[in-house]
Amino acid sequence: MQISATPTHCPYCALQCGMNLTPAPDGTVEVSERADFPVNRGALCGKGRTAPAVLSSRVRLTSPLVRSGGELTPATWEEALNRIAEELRRTRTEHGPDAVGVFGGGGLTNEKAYTLGKFARVVLGTSQIDYNGRFCMSSAAAAGIKAFGLDRGLPFPLEDIPKTGCVILVGSNLAETMPPSLRFFNELKENGGTLIVVDPRRTKTAEQADLHLAPRPGTDLALALGLLHLVVAEGRVDEAYIEERTTGWEEARAAAMAHWPEYVERITGVSVPQLREAVRLFCEPEAAMVLTARGPEQQSKGTDTVGAWINLCLATGRAGRPLSGYGCLTGQGNGQGGREHGQKADQLPGYRKLDDPAARRHVAEVWGVDPDSLPGPGRSAYELLDALGGDIKSLLLMGSNPVVSAPRAAHIEERVKSLDFLAVCDVVLSETAALADVVLPVTQWAEETGTTTNLEGRVLLRRRAITAPEGIRSDLDVMHELADRLGVEKGFPTDPEEVFEELRRASAGGPADYSGITYRRLAQENGVFWPCPTADADADVGHPGTPRLFLDRFATPDGRARFAPVSHRASAEEPDDEYPVLLTTGRVVAQYQSGAQTRRVDELNAAAPGPFVELHPRLAARLGAAEGDPLAVVSRRGRAVAPARITTSIRPDTVFMPFHWAGEGRANTLTNPALDPTSRMPEFKACAVRVETVQS
Ligand code: SF4
Repeated sequence: MQISATPTHCPYCALQCGMNLTPAPDGTVEVSERADFPVNRGALCGKGRTAPAVLSSRVRLTSPLVRSGGELTPATWEEALNRIAEELRRTRTEHGPDAVGVFGGGGLTNEKAYTLGKFARVVLGTSQIDYNGRFCMSSAAAAGIKAFGLDRGLPFPLEDIPKTGCVILVGSNLAETMPPSLRFFNELKENGGTLIVVDPRRTKTAEQADLHLAPRPGTDLALALGLLHLVVAEGRVDEAYIEERTTGWEEARAAAMAHWPEYVERITGVSVPQLREAVRLFCEPEAAMVLTARGPEQQSKGTDTVGAWINLCLATGRAGRPLSGYGCLTGQGNGQGGREHGQKADQLPGYRKLDDPAARRHVAEVWGVDPDSLPGPGRSAYELLDALGGDIKSLLLMGSNPVVSAPRAAHIEERVKSLDFLAVCDVVLSETAALADVVLPVTQWAEETGTTTNLEGRVLLRRRAITAPEGIRSDLDVMHELADRLGVEKGFPTDPEEVFEELRRASAGGPADYSGITYRRLAQENGVFWPCPTADADADVGHPGTPRLFLDRFATPDGRARFAPVSHRASAEEPDDEYPVLLTTGRVVAQYQSGAQTRRVDELNAAAPGPFVELHPRLAARLGAAEGDPLAVVSRRGRAVAPARITTSIRPDTVFMPFHWAGEGRANTLTNPALDPTSRMPEFKACAVRVETVQS
């Protein structure tokens, strides 16, 4: 293995912490601090520190696998690629292009996400492409576009957080998901600012808050409306700002005024004095922010819930002003860039819309195809997975493990098994890859160069630091080879910089404009914030990028932010006699998403070896359960078993399960695929279950 010391970025979450990869005396790769990167300033969590373990893991795939006689057996690249091309061609011929599905991931680099979207539409001609990022932040994206005309996770850099007066952090456990980011919140408090955390659990993040509001899962829409009601009732509305910079206030105000504090207390369980205290802390300082994450977003009303939090910002004049605003803390490594360049069902590169004729013309010209040849929008992620084995007969999957991460996972596992053909590109044999007909072993972050866009909208260069083991190829190489075999010989380069150059042109003039960003620039700067347009494609110093959005105007046609006239409604599934408890799901610090990589790291497995059911002592007493006892959690979709973890940090009416594991403790066996009508985000955060003790 060739090793060189290289400044690069972590493969996991959307913080995209900077790190150095250096050769270790024993031939492995060592991670060290990279203090110059402003997002993490040298700090890394355990996942980032141990990330190289997956590079040399004994379970790393190093040869293509092709199913033969029911078993996955090693094959040559020629055999594997030919088989995929043959099967995809056969499916198209027999059932039409939409019978081929493509499923991507929020961890793919911008270059891969862009190429995957182009591959689906140009080579396969299918509309059936979506990605797992739909499960991550699509409700915040939808609400952001409705309100501001643009979705960029944070419209300001993280470095603004310590300088504001108050942050309301809604449904985010940063202490476990992005530990280095806590520094910004600690500095906020040191500077005299306050932190309010909204979470049904008293998480490690909530423990650090000045005020913790613990609503019942699925009721934070009512909570936000109740706070807005109090803002109006206490005369804290910024009328001049509303007049100058917004539209739709009267309808939003009327909707909020129907949510009396006492009514909101009954729905949420958050007391009226706590509501009043939150309003005081949020409104007294000159500047304040609301940041949301998966809590409010992963609901069948996620778009409205985020809209209600944005309303609170707009009514108090806290958006599009220095050190104030609403932001979404995107989760996956390239969750932001992955949703901008075309692997989403309704989207073309540059955050353009597939149903926009001008966007189709622009991108088709860059791709050298007829705009009319581009398919229209397809299904959202869950709907696509649910159609497997139905009208979708074959699937190409890249960078995702839906058998663990999709809601109603046992059903999705059955749908995957019912496919005529499944091809998976991955670094290890994930639970989904294990069901494939062909598995291709692909390069990982340290073995390939590419760009990602972190949660701030900062485009970064993730550099190749080492050479991949023999027998492994990049996803770009795979798409190049498949395109060639399917009759498209040009337009699918394997060099990531060449892909990025095309992406720049495809994104030019779009909402997420990358045309002023070059690899050369990224190699010299600590990232560039989009939009970054430029007229001179070769300019080293062009547009400076846009760290802060909306300061002069919002990205709506009239430049004004739009209030959302939203009202509380119940979750798709409420507790009843048969299923009397609420289940909410989330992550733990030592594992990442479906665990495909982190479950292969000994140190992380030692820290977080398996699933558990977190429950309150009162519920445990009712069940007669003691710490560590196996508990069965049963929903309308299935049953999962995991040991009890008893804690007063959770509400007595709620249980929590982390979703990183497969097998009998798979939390997503239980979760509800009820979809938000706008974002098509499933309701991971609230479903009705019953909890039973299990005889061991
Ligand atoms: Fe990697 Fe995220 Fe941990 Fe940073 S916080 S080291 S980006 S997993």
